[in-house]
Amino acid sequence: MAAAVIYGKAVAAQVRERVAAEVAELTAELGRPPGLATVLVGEDPASAIYVRRKREACEEVGIRSHHHEPDASIGPDELLGLVAELNRDDEVDGILVQLPLPEGLDAPAVVNAIDPDKDVDGLTPVSAGRLARGEPGLVPCTPLGVMELLRSAGVEPAGTETVIVGRSNLVGKPLASLLLGADATVTICHSRTADLAGVCRRAEILIAAAGRPALVGAEMIRPGATVIDVGTNRTEDGLVGDVDFEAALEVAGAITPVPGGVGPMTIAMLLANTALAARVRSASAIGSR
Ligand code: NAP
Repeated sequence: MAAAVIYGKAVAAQVRERVAAEVAELTAELGRPPGLATVLVGEDPASAIYVRRKREACEEVGIRSHHHEPDASIGPDELLGLVAELNRDDEVDGILVQLPLPEGLDAPAVVNAIDPDKDVDGLTPVSAGRLARGEPGLVPCTPLGVMELLRSAGVEPAGTETVIVGRSNLVGKPLASLLLGADATVTICHSRTADLAGVCRRAEILIAAAGRPALVGAEMIRPGATVIDVGTNRTEDGLVGDVDFEAALEVAGAITPVPGGVGPMTIAMLLANTALAARVRSASAIGSR
């Protein structure tokens, strides 16, 4: 029997609806809309498109977008100064510095300068530490989106053998922490894993986040497994994931397509993170009165 296809677009639309309702409440409570600051340094065309989509998505749910577009020639101190200014700005609840930064700028230093309570990308060491320790905090958007997709498909991670292919700070590691927090038994694979196929075949939930087209074939999938394909690879055949989708359909129990699976979730979760940051900041402001 062919696998059920998990469509991210529909789930992302539900998340956006939920966030819009939360934003309307917050706007009434705060007397201003929640705000997301985006910083786009230089003129990388792909980054410009990503940032434009994020800003449009904000406006759609009622989040105010505060956009900054410094020239690629901006100095490191000046860029850190901009981040410090956004950290102090009370109308800014979330800060997103679009990566990669132009050559000569130290991306980790810039990310580390973001106030962790405004870190809606979840990439600062404080956010990563909170997640690793199972403490409340802001979590990277794509892993959050994967968890939301699993929930929407009725897949319960607790007690499952879950395998993640990829160990980046952006996807693999935070996802492992989230799934561990959800009581899955988690294995993380990477480019030095000795028997990738053998490990993947154990998985009841298999998550591919390697950025390698067709890395995961049908023979690597346990019959009936839930397969989440985070991979986004531009090829001559267009946008493809890390999983051989057509072949996997015959073996998996459920699977996300590329495009239209994890992709739409990332921006939806950015909106959710911005609303959460605004909620937490307003609660701590009340607490400190
Ligand atoms: P990354 O930083 O390049 O990390 C890739 C990971 O995959 C690394 O840990 C690497 O292992 C592992 N890997 C590479 N080739 C492998 C192989 N042949 N066998 C086993 N493991 C292998 O990438 P990323 O930022 O995590 O992104 C991963 C993919 O997700 C990319 O396609 C990216 O475009 C996509 N993505 C999509 C979204 C979305 O919104 N849909 C968001 C973020 C990322 P080593 O550590 O050993 O090098």
